[in-house]
Amino acid sequence: GEELRLKWDKAPCRFCGTGCGVMVGVKDGRVVATHGDMRAEVNRGLNCVKGYFLSKIMYGADRLTRPLMRMRDGRFDKQGELQPVSWDQAFDTMAAHWKKVLKEKGPEAVGMFGSGQWTLWEGYAASKLMRAGFRSNNLDPNARHCMASAAVTFIRTFGMDEPMGCYDDFEHADAFVLWGSNMAEMHPILWTRVTDRRLSAEHVRIHTLSTFEHRTTDLSDAAVIFRPGSDLAILNYIANHIIQAGAVNRDFVGKHVNFRLANTDIGYGLRPEHVLEQRAQHAGDAQVSQAADFDAYARLVSEYTLDRAHELSGVPKSQLEALAKLYADPKTKVMSLWTMGFNQHVRGVWANHMIYNIHLLTGKISEPGNSPFSLTGQPSACGTAREVGTFSHRLPADMQVANPEHRKLAEQLWKIPEGLLPGKVGFHAVQQDRMLKDGKLNAYWIMCNNNLQTAPNTNNETYPGYRNLENLIVCSDPYPTVTAMAADIVLPTAMWVEKEGGYGNAERRTHFWHQLVDAPGEARSDLWQLMEFSKRFTTDEVWPAEILEKAPEYRGKSLFDALFRNGQVDRFPLSDMAPGYENRESKEYGFYVQKGLFEEYASFGRGHGHDLAPFDTYHEVRGLRWPVVDGKETRWRYREGLDPYVEKGTGIQFYGNPDKRANIMGAPYEPPAEAPDAEYDLWLVTGRVLEHWHSGSMTLRVPELYKAFPGAILFMHPEDAQKRGLRRGQEVRIASRRGEIRSRVETRGRNKVPRGVVFVPFFDASQLINKVTLDATDPISKQTDYKKCAVKVVAA
Ligand code: SF4
Repeated sequence: GEELRLKWDKAPCRFCGTGCGVMVGVKDGRVVATHGDMRAEVNRGLNCVKGYFLSKIMYGADRLTRPLMRMRDGRFDKQGELQPVSWDQAFDTMAAHWKKVLKEKGPEAVGMFGSGQWTLWEGYAASKLMRAGFRSNNLDPNARHCMASAAVTFIRTFGMDEPMGCYDDFEHADAFVLWGSNMAEMHPILWTRVTDRRLSAEHVRIHTLSTFEHRTTDLSDAAVIFRPGSDLAILNYIANHIIQAGAVNRDFVGKHVNFRLANTDIGYGLRPEHVLEQRAQHAGDAQVSQAADFDAYARLVSEYTLDRAHELSGVPKSQLEALAKLYADPKTKVMSLWTMGFNQHVRGVWANHMIYNIHLLTGKISEPGNSPFSLTGQPSACGTAREVGTFSHRLPADMQVANPEHRKLAEQLWKIPEGLLPGKVGFHAVQQDRMLKDGKLNAYWIMCNNNLQTAPNTNNETYPGYRNLENLIVCSDPYPTVTAMAADIVLPTAMWVEKEGGYGNAERRTHFWHQLVDAPGEARSDLWQLMEFSKRFTTDEVWPAEILEKAPEYRGKSLFDALFRNGQVDRFPLSDMAPGYENRESKEYGFYVQKGLFEEYASFGRGHGHDLAPFDTYHEVRGLRWPVVDGKETRWRYREGLDPYVEKGTGIQFYGNPDKRANIMGAPYEPPAEAPDAEYDLWLVTGRVLEHWHSGSMTLRVPELYKAFPGAILFMHPEDAQKRGLRRGQEVRIASRRGEIRSRVETRGRNKVPRGVVFVPFFDASQLINKVTLDATDPISKQTDYKKCAVKVVAA
């Protein structure tokens, strides 16, 4: 009947980097149903179990609906209790603290920790407010923990970020090699495309490399289980095999590749930091590598014989050889896939390089089915963290804050005075926590992430910074996460279809949705929060006098007027909004704010290989893969005929680099930062499970998902359990040199770990496994290694 009729609209899934399309059913101002979008190319109507229950993520009983602030005797007090306050009280307290810190310590003492789950315009607005408003590059996304190694290596190899291929490669590849990726649980819909290809073409094979067996290895032709960290040795052996077998594509290499060797004089990113880590700026390749030639590279990898790779990795020689032959065979199209297993690695950048090395040596790249493909974890890890430029070292469209030319261009496009943008790379995620603890970062805003649950070594390096009395910690979140509950001010946030949005998925696909329902109570979008906060500052308060002297027209303006009512962001009238989709923020400001922000952002990339379609187009289609030129998306980049940027007659151009060549980077195997010993005798690997999204703040509030996997458990080999006198289900203590938690032993189930390895997922706030993990980072990408540290497990 009429009363049952729902209004349906499209949106991307809220969760993973796969970027499935869903249809959202709304009734009486509430999302009541979702289903997979048949018209979405990515998933063709399918959803995984998380996507299936999307309609329930916004309706947890403990949704935050009012701002909260620590109060005592009616006043803000960091040692007081969280109590409801008005938005004005919260923003005024924040602004007073920000101004004091800026005045006393300067822009380096304010910071923000954002997310690859921010919408495109939220990340863009945050970046603009932090860099141009507060003149601080201390902005980093939680994507730093997720795929910084991939992002940095794309630029070091190709001069441009993000994959050259796309999901269409799944239907063209003859072999899939998964490097430390459990796609069946983490990218389940893409896994259906892999398995579909495997089952519909007789010759197709799947090789999965991992440190333990899981649901992906169950369905693979080869489960290649290696010792933690030894993937570097395996990759160098494959390169060596390609060279020894005469399988180098000499023509391709001669025309399109340069050789470099990595500097090995860089330590892991532990305190005290190695001096070279400070110098190893992401763009400043020269400091961490040097030019070489084919012979020097061949000499380096020649040490990685089959015997040595076998010794280091523990993998049977027959498996290693089969893998190497597959890459070497010119007739086999190979898609290599990786994600956190590879990126969360103290040599994550080297590992990423080594994948490109073998694809570049054989010329298996930038064509259907031959594809080194980095998967992403978050729904807009590519769109918001990378393309918009929310990393502490980046500006929009792959530009770098350390590059004066890039800053100048950004100043022009943002219409701000010349010389305003700071050139010093800001604190990365782990460094932010350390600087909070050390009292050097004193005003900190966390948006769209759950840092206290997900940062490494939290008890020693993260939590102390939150309690440091000099610091004001603000957390915006829809739910009372452990981070929100440890903050001084908590701001209730609108989520997913409660606001207008745009995301960018792992295959360069930009896709949009409309606000379909209102957020509960006083909850407002991160975009609104950023803009309202910007109104509380004037340029005279935060910009240097010498800059304002040269640009007097900016004097006395609020940051809102200087940055967002700048003649660009405010140029689209409310009448541009589609009837029935009049969003809250725009109505409040009197202009179509999301469109203005998007179009200003898009101007950075148009004509530079990052072209985006006009804003309105994205509301009509199920996403488009950039560069979008003359209305057409690009599926494979860098190849003539497929990519509009490649000149005729060249075949291939890696045009991100000035000489249009890609870099093969030679690097050795190096052992992990910490390894088991007599006392801490097991490797700890952390990660996710199918049912829960990251720290579980959304999925644990969906009853069906909660019941499916209600709490974290410790996966352990039965013989390791027996040796310690532990039974299945028994409570245990998992301890490292940094901290300990309690969990329960599981010796069966979906993950089969080898002897000497244990796995614990991180979604469960009652078992904070990151009290145990090590805060070692890749010195180049600054990404944390959550996959390798030493622990002991004893009966509780
Ligand atoms: Fe959502 Fe990812 Fe599942 Fe698709 S695979 S439905 S994007 S969580």
